[in-house]
Amino acid sequence: MSSVFKLLHTLLVFYTLLSFSISSSSAIPPGSRSLLRVTKSGAGDQSDFAVDLNVTNFDSVLKDTPAIYAIVEFFAHWCPACRNYKSHYEKVARLFNGANAVHPGTVLMTRVDCANTINTKLCDKFSVTHYPSLYWGPPSKFVGGSWDGKSEKSDIRPIDDGRTADRLLKWINKQLGSSYSLEDEKYENDQLIHSNVSDPGQIARAVYDVEEATSIAFDIILAHKLIKPDTRATLIKFMQLMVAHHPSRRCRKGSADILVNFDDLYPSNKWPTNKQESGNGSRHGGVAKFDICGKEVPRGYWMFCRGSKNDTRGFSCGLWVMLHSLSVRVEDGESQMAFTSTCDFIHQFFMCEECRQHFYSMCKRVSTPFSNTRDFVLWLWTAHNEVNTRLMKTESSLGTGDPKFPKTTWPSKHLCPNCYTNQNQDEESSSIDWDLDEVFKFLGSYYGKKLVSLYTEKDKAHAQIKNDAASEDLLQPTNALVVPVGAALAIAVASCLFGALACCWRSQQKNRKPRRS
Ligand code: FAD
Repeated sequence: MSSVFKLLHTLLVFYTLLSFSISSSSAIPPGSRSLLRVTKSGAGDQSDFAVDLNVTNFDSVLKDTPAIYAIVEFFAHWCPACRNYKSHYEKVARLFNGANAVHPGTVLMTRVDCANTINTKLCDKFSVTHYPSLYWGPPSKFVGGSWDGKSEKSDIRPIDDGRTADRLLKWINKQLGSSYSLEDEKYENDQLIHSNVSDPGQIARAVYDVEEATSIAFDIILAHKLIKPDTRATLIKFMQLMVAHHPSRRCRKGSADILVNFDDLYPSNKWPTNKQESGNGSRHGGVAKFDICGKEVPRGYWMFCRGSKNDTRGFSCGLWVMLHSLSVRVEDGESQMAFTSTCDFIHQFFMCEECRQHFYSMCKRVSTPFSNTRDFVLWLWTAHNEVNTRLMKTESSLGTGDPKFPKTTWPSKHLCPNCYTNQNQDEESSSIDWDLDEVFKFLGSYYGKKLVSLYTEKDKAHAQIKNDAASEDLLQPTNALVVPVGAALAIAVASCLFGALACCWRSQQKNRKPRRS
C-alpha cells in the first residue's frame, strides 16, 4: 500500500512541477529575461538599449514607433552564440534607441526570445531556423506580419551580414545611405539625413513631435503648478479644442479622459504649497499626472523638430506645429474660440516670458473677431513669420540659432512655389507678395492631411491586419489558453495515471470493508 502512496506522491510532485514550469514560462513579465541577462553579464553593466519584445507587445511597439526602420533579432536565451552576440547588437542599438540615442527615430532595434514558449508562434511566423536571426524592414510591415523566405518582394528582409557590431552597422549604413560610426556621440557628426525641412514629406514625421510637445507642455503645467483658480478655465477651453481637433488620436483620447474627470483629478484646493512636495511617478504633489497622449509619450527625442545641436529647436518647434495643426482643423464657427484659447493658453502656460509676452501683444492687435478658419490660419502663419523675422536678426547677431535651421520667411519657394505671386521675387525680401489663397491651401494640406499621413497609413495597414485576423478567427476556433502540445500531452498522461491509481486505491479500500463487518 505504501508503494501506491509513494507513486501517487511522485506523480503529484511531477504534476505540480510541470504546471509550474508551464505557467512560469508563459507568465514571464517582459522585462524579467533582460534582467537575468544583465545580472549574468556582470555587475555595473548598463541596462539594455535594444527593446525586448514578446507576443503581447510585438505589434503595439512596432505600430507605435516613429522609427523609419526596425530590426528584430530572434534569439534564444540558452544559445551561447546569442549571449556572445548581445554586446555587438547592443553597441549598435546604443546609436538608435532610447532618449539619449545618437541617431534617434531612424532604426528601432528590438529582440524576441524564441525560447520563451509564449513567443513560439511569433518566431514560427518569421520562419526562424537559427539563432540569432536578424530581420530588417519598416516597423509597420512587422505588425501582424510574417516572413517565409520565398517571396522576393517582401518588405522584410533577413540581415545576412551582421555578425559583429561593425558589420551590422555597415549593413545598416548601406540601406540608409548614411555613414554612421560606432564612435558617434550625440550631436557630433550629426548628418540629420532625415531632417531636411525643405522636403515637404518631412512634415509627416512631425506628428510625433506634436505628441511630444503636447505631453511636455502638460508636464510643465503640473510641475510648475500652473493650474490656478484664474487659469483653470483657459486650460479647460484649450483641452476642449484638443479633444476636437488635435491631430493625434491618442492625444485627443487622453485629453477627453482627463477633461471628463478634471475636477476630481485636479481639485483647486489640492496644490502643495512647497515645491519639494511635488511627487513623481503618476502623482504630482497629490494630483494625478497628465499622461495626456498616453504613457508612451513623451519619448525623449524629436523627429522633425530635432536640432543639430543640443538645446536648439525641440519643444518650441513642436508647440508651433501643434498650434498650426489645430488652426487648420477648426470649423469656421469655431475660429474665434480657437483664437482666444490659443492666445490665452500661450499667455498663461508657455513659460518663456519673452515669447508669451510677444505672442500676446500680437493677439491683442486683432480688433475684429474671426469669423472663418482661413483668417485665423493666416493670422497664425503671419504671427509666426513675425517671430521668425525678429529672431533672424537676434540669432545671427548672438549666434544662438541652429546653424542647420536658420530662421526664414516661411514657406520657401521650394516648399510652396504657388504661394509666391511673383516667382522672381526674392525670398529674403521683407515684403513678399503672397498669394494668400494659395498660402491657405498649402497650410491646410501641410498641417492637415500630410501631417497625419504616417498615422493614416499605419491605421489602414492595421485595419487590414485586423480584418485578416478576424477572418482567420472565423475559420479557426481559438483557445483561451495556449499550451504547447508536448506539455498538454504530458498533463493528460499524468492526469490519466493519477486517475487510474486513485481508482485502484479506492477499489482496494472497498474490498477491505466487508471483511471488517
Ligand atoms: P520654429 O520657428 O519653431 O518653427 C517650427 C516649424 O514650423 C519650422 O521648422 C517650419 O517647418 C514651420 N514654420 C516656420 N515658420 C512658419 C510659419 N510662419 N507658419 C507656419 N509654419 C511655419 N523665441 C524667441 O526667441 N522669442 C520669441 O518671442 C518667441 N516667441 C515664440 C512664440 C510662440 C507661440 C512659440 C511656440 C515659440 C516662440 N519662440 C520665440 C521660439 C521660436 O519661435 C522657435 O520655436 C525656436 O527658435 C525654434 O525654431 P525652429 O527653427 O525649430 O522653427
